[in-house]
Amino acid sequence: MTIQRPRSEALYAEALEHIVGGVNSPSRSFKGVGGGAPVFMKRAEGAYFWDVDDNRYIDYLAAYGPIITGHAHPHITEAIVRAAQNGVLYGTPTELEVQLARMLKDAIPSMDKVRFVNSGTEAVMTTIRVARAYTKRSKIIKFAGCYHGHSDLVLVAAGSGPSTLGIPDSAGVPISIAQEVITVPFNDIPALKQALERFGHETAAVMVEPIVGNFGMVMPHEGYLEQLCALTREAGALVIYDEVISAFRFHYGSSQTFAAFPDQAAIEPDLTALGKIIGGGLPIGAYGGRRSIMEQVAPLGPAYQAGTMAGNPASISAGIACLEVLKSPGIYERMDRLAGQLAGGLKAAADKNGFALTINQIRGSFSAHFCNHPVTNYDEAQNTDGELFGRFFKLMLDQGINLAPSKYEAWFLTIAHTDEDIHATIEAAEHAFSKL
Ligand code: PMP
Repeated sequence: MTIQRPRSEALYAEALEHIVGGVNSPSRSFKGVGGGAPVFMKRAEGAYFWDVDDNRYIDYLAAYGPIITGHAHPHITEAIVRAAQNGVLYGTPTELEVQLARMLKDAIPSMDKVRFVNSGTEAVMTTIRVARAYTKRSKIIKFAGCYHGHSDLVLVAAGSGPSTLGIPDSAGVPISIAQEVITVPFNDIPALKQALERFGHETAAVMVEPIVGNFGMVMPHEGYLEQLCALTREAGALVIYDEVISAFRFHYGSSQTFAAFPDQAAIEPDLTALGKIIGGGLPIGAYGGRRSIMEQVAPLGPAYQAGTMAGNPASISAGIACLEVLKSPGIYERMDRLAGQLAGGLKAAADKNGFALTINQIRGSFSAHFCNHPVTNYDEAQNTDGELFGRFFKLMLDQGINLAPSKYEAWFLTIAHTDEDIHATIEAAEHAFSKL
């Protein structure tokens, strides 16, 4: 079976006339997989998408993470409909916000106080402002390959070594801002030490994805986060965990309480940024942390942050409904089992056809890199075969399997995937590898 997509192609040509690059987020373009028209979807339900040409796809994108329940989950849909009927935006506080804040605090105990915003980008951006307000310092340290949204400070690449200042990763980010950022490799304590020795006294915060989701799925080495936290605090800086992907992805909670991760589980950051899953598919972000730090935020303190749409009843209702679904017993175990089967099937298909594949599985998600070495940091993730991935991606798409169009992105299972979906996907992968 090879899928035809004339309507997607026509729509893409028209989109290029009206929308910059034809897409509203660059990650949706097929630039990273050899180009071509992205698929225009018109409907999604459970584990499936239907495109504008009526082709069906099994979806492993999950909208880059948020759709952990599968698309159009009835409990979430009902909550959104109810919210719409009650008015979508008030500009006043609501009981719903209090309820979701309580649910987040119960699941992530390091957050004494929470504030809702509209995206992961906003959440991260504000944690940096709050850390700067609290410490009265300006620099931040982050890790190569970790993505924290598109605000100026986190769109900065590494300089030439771990103890050098950053260079802008995007046009429009001033050099003066890039000079406030130091980027070091992940899973490398000596590099972090070196950066802190040189810049620690000026550093407001060290920002990290505790479990990386942005250059594949990458676990921290044993003891890494513990040392990261200790060194950061010794320098008088704050630890910020960007859990926009990781919170509620691997279990009901964040990486801070992930039992599969015992030696790091009890480590609490000073601030946490959230997004994606906590909005059940509607726009959301949130940040929270220790009371004394969060009390820097207006109206209590001098750090300003506001939002017309923040805490809107539709997003909050969808978030509450999504977390309610995720509380059901056995949910994560099932995704874990299916991801294991799928990852095993992919690996076997790759082996059989003579392709090296490195799979990093963390419960219901995994990354599959075309390489014959481990992937534990960004350098290793870069040093994988993107051209081969691009061809694999298209062979899968043409068989109705929707993956993220980038060699760095994860495969996300949802609670809607079935054993049949996994078997069909493995079959498609066997065919794809045989054609590569
Ligand atoms: N942090 C992380 C870890 C992310 O993966 C992302 C988005 N992929 C963001 C922040 C930004 O979130 P948003 O796209 O909602 O602004």
